[in-house]
Amino acid sequence: MFRGAPPGIRTFPSGAFLYDGDDGRRVLFDTGYATGRWDTGWRGVAYRRLLPPRVTDDDDIAERLRADDVDPASVTHVVLSHLHPDHVGGVHRFPQANLVLTAGHLRTLASPRLRAGVLPGLLPEGFPGDARILGDDEFVPRTTAGVDLRAVDLFGDGSYLVVDLPGHADGHVGALVEGKVLLAGDGAWGRDLLDAAPRMKALPRAVQHDYETYRRTGEVLTRLAAAGIRVVCSHDAVDDRELLS
Ligand SMILES: [Zn+2]
Repeated sequence: MFRGAPPGIRTFPSGAFLYDGDDGRRVLFDTGYATGRWDTGWRGVAYRRLLPPRVTDDDDIAERLRADDVDPASVTHVVLSHLHPDHVGGVHRFPQANLVLTAGHLRTLASPRLRAGVLPGLLPEGFPGDARILGDDEFVPRTTAGVDLRAVDLFGDGSYLVVDLPGHADGHVGALVEGKVLLAGDGAWGRDLLDAAPRMKALPRAVQHDYETYRRTGEVLTRLAAAGIRVVCSHDAVDDRELLS
């Protein structure tokens, strides 16, 4: 995937991140892979050949929450970084939650090119329903730890900022939680790869929505990490029950 990297196989866990906020707010960022059979046609076959997922029934996000004494029905909001299969597979487990998407996500849904990597069969019936759609112009400039970002303050109290991290997919976002932890989604494929985009080989470059923008997002993430923000990528190997702070 990267020039100069030693050959080897790397396992990418698919993270989902729960924030317990004030006033009973429980915000889930991404939902992992779908368990069971995927009814996703030839696109799904192609995807699974390229990126063979290993998913057991125990990996179901609702099961994982229950194992941590969190009732899935108590999740009030689900924020999706983007619509790739390893981020949307558990969306159907939270029919009661307020879904938060971006205009870029809807653009992808409207014209799902193969390269966009969206498998409609993984999304629940009627998706996105009455989701809150964050428009491109809702993201306003904001400086965090001396780094310029564009963000939507989801609850108006600064606790949960949905941050524009463009490049990997149209409308791709992360979440800055309590000004300390940045859930970076696929802004980079790992904490150790924040500045690796310039070394990315041709094929992985080609699957980014916009490689140049993706590279710049990597630079932003690198600066945030250097400024003391805890940057956590979706595919970082954090512990099952690690409290991020
Ligand atoms: Zn992705």
